[in-house]
Amino acid sequence: MTQKVLLLPGDGIGPEIVAEAVNVLEALKANHGLDIDMVSGLVGGAAYDVSGHPLPEETMQMARDVDAILLGAVGGYKWETLDISVRPEKGLLGLRSGLGLFANLRPAFLYPQLADASSLKPEVVSGLDILIVRELTGGIYFGQPRGIRTLENGERQGYNTYVYSESEIERIGHVAFQAAMKRNKKVCSVDKANVLEVTELWREVMTDLAQQYPDVELSHMYVDNAAMQLVRNPKQFDVIVTGNMFGDILSDEASMLTGSIGMLPSASLDANNKGMYEPSHGSAPDIAGQNLANPLATILSAAMMLRYSLGREDLAIKIEQAVSKVLDQGLRTGDIYSKGMQKVSTSEMGSAVVKALG
Ligand code: NAD
Repeated sequence: MTQKVLLLPGDGIGPEIVAEAVNVLEALKANHGLDIDMVSGLVGGAAYDVSGHPLPEETMQMARDVDAILLGAVGGYKWETLDISVRPEKGLLGLRSGLGLFANLRPAFLYPQLADASSLKPEVVSGLDILIVRELTGGIYFGQPRGIRTLENGERQGYNTYVYSESEIERIGHVAFQAAMKRNKKVCSVDKANVLEVTELWREVMTDLAQQYPDVELSHMYVDNAAMQLVRNPKQFDVIVTGNMFGDILSDEASMLTGSIGMLPSASLDANNKGMYEPSHGSAPDIAGQNLANPLATILSAAMMLRYSLGREDLAIKIEQAVSKVLDQGLRTGDIYSKGMQKVSTSEMGSAVVKALG
């Protein structure tokens, strides 16, 4: 049966990078038996400009109807002064919570061809292959109450609530342990259990859960130490599981170990493996519209979509091999460029991947 994919290019470089991923998917449809229908919708600032809301009901309905979503990025200078309730990022948070996408998978994988692009020494990062599993629909980003209030003395006070229930911790824990079973069988749970009760509970639940996965080695680490260990000795990690805010920060840190945020895909899954796929980076307004952005994170997000939501592991591997091939050919966008390589544009990089699919 034909599967349906919703494309949400969004803002900034979003439309440019999604266009290249679409070219790759079209090539797989034409030559490699991929059976999907693609429809497009509006999200983020692009949706706000048309409808006054970053996540119009029409987009939400389309998102509910499809098998998977491929998103570019949202946000930009133009919308920074809007009320927080209609900022582009709210569109993304609304999709994640509205679709129950509670598990964010962010691989930090270093292509050997790019070992020199990392700011760390090649021997520290070569062979790096970490999967960060971040809880995405709970924690302090969603906890109530929240807001800015005025105290009796007239001073303003901002406040948020960091909250996790046992069931929320358990379901993200299962995702991490199951992922580890297919990898190197190590899970490091990151928390701040020495200071925050909510993560004391997190640690207890993870420890209990580990009994169901006797083949997986569970360790615990405080988030400040994890941030340090990621730059000191990142290869000690296999799967890292953590809450929403710590995962947000650590996954960006891990992405830089690989040289460029422009290389890293991500998946956000619900309990049935329906997912939203997007590059780990933002909308890069500083380079938007200039044909400079690296489209590989988005193309690799399409590969993750084929693997996790559309049941086409074979075509996911085909895309990943094609990306490796263009890197072998020495093609580099500006963000991963080094001396002696061939600097290419967004569209040239995308076309090279299509060609390398064979
Ligand atoms: P960013 O990831 O957009 O950019 C950080 C730096 O990395 C910039 O110098 C940018 O040019 C570069 N960069 C990012 N992606 C690149 C790519 N594919 N190729 C080459 N270079 C790339 O982060 P930011 O500057 O903090 O945020 C910019 C906007 O994006 C903000 O409005 C922010 O809210 C939004 N944002 C959106 C998402 C999302 O849609 N998932 C995530 C993070 C930030």
